[in-house]
Amino acid sequence: MSQIPALLRFRQGDSVADIDTDATPGFSGSKSDAAPVQASRNERLAELQELLYANWKAADDQRSVLLVLQGMDAAGKGGIVKHVVGAVNPMGVRYTAFGKPTEEELGHHYLWRIRNALPPAGHIGVFDRSHYEDVLIVRVHNLVPPEVWEKRYDEINAFERELVDSGTTLVKVAMFISLDEQKEQLLERLEDPTKYWKYHPGDIDERLKWPAYQQAYQAMLDRTSTEYAPWHVLPCDRRWYSRLAVTELLIEALEKLDLSWPPADFDIKAEKRRLSDS
Ligand code: AMP
Ligand code: MG
Repeated sequence: MSQIPALLRFRQGDSVADIDTDATPGFSGSKSDAAPVQASRNERLAELQELLYANWKAADDQRSVLLVLQGMDAAGKGGIVKHVVGAVNPMGVRYTAFGKPTEEELGHHYLWRIRNALPPAGHIGVFDRSHYEDVLIVRVHNLVPPEVWEKRYDEINAFERELVDSGTTLVKVAMFISLDEQKEQLLERLEDPTKYWKYHPGDIDERLKWPAYQQAYQAMLDRTSTEYAPWHVLPCDRRWYSRLAVTELLIEALEKLDLSWPPADFDIKAEKRRLSDS
């Protein structure tokens, strides 16, 4: 369990083509073994999130955590948000989904909408897709010329350096499912009326571009996995595993902040006396 983050950490030389999307690194049990573990780790995550929030509220701690979820359609980003992020108090979460940029967004630098969505102090930010779309779909679809997206890798590294320096811990997760599993998931969306809303005909066009996406994901990992903001490569064919793993990544990030409950900044005895007299 505790070795999950290290096992998922992207290492230079790792190849996207070789990812075993069906693997469960660091967890040898089955789906039913994972359920009680997930429940108890959710509690730990909720406690850590409350500590982060409490330290900001009571002690003006400026730190925050930003979870960046990047992955193809049906990789399970929505499930991570629902089941992992959903385990913590929404008061302390700032969630943003990044879709096709609006007219207004297109009038600005691509990082403009990203900056506007950064988590405030004491919060956990969640990016459901992110600035990495600007070197993924944008690159695959030639939405800007190569000399433009080419410069973005360094620019993103500088941007993330700035975030880390200002007290934000980045937890970057690249989610991968096999084409077969993606097909299953998309079929489910077509067969279940409660899932039609998740389906877009364009998902199939993106799926057919997988070889180009694979190259773009490889470049993203090679060029933006830094020591201060490393990527994690998450196998997502087994959704129960990917959820447990992201829970572990967030727990690790929060534990590194070494948080404790902020002490009272008032005289407890005196307040008790005042209370009983009131
Ligand atoms: P979904 O996450 O399924 O709601 O889909 C959002 C869509 O918006 C995906 O196809 C993304 O690739 C696309 N998208 C997100 N960011 C950008 C961007 N910067 N430029 C173009 N398309 C984007
Ligand atoms: Mg989608």
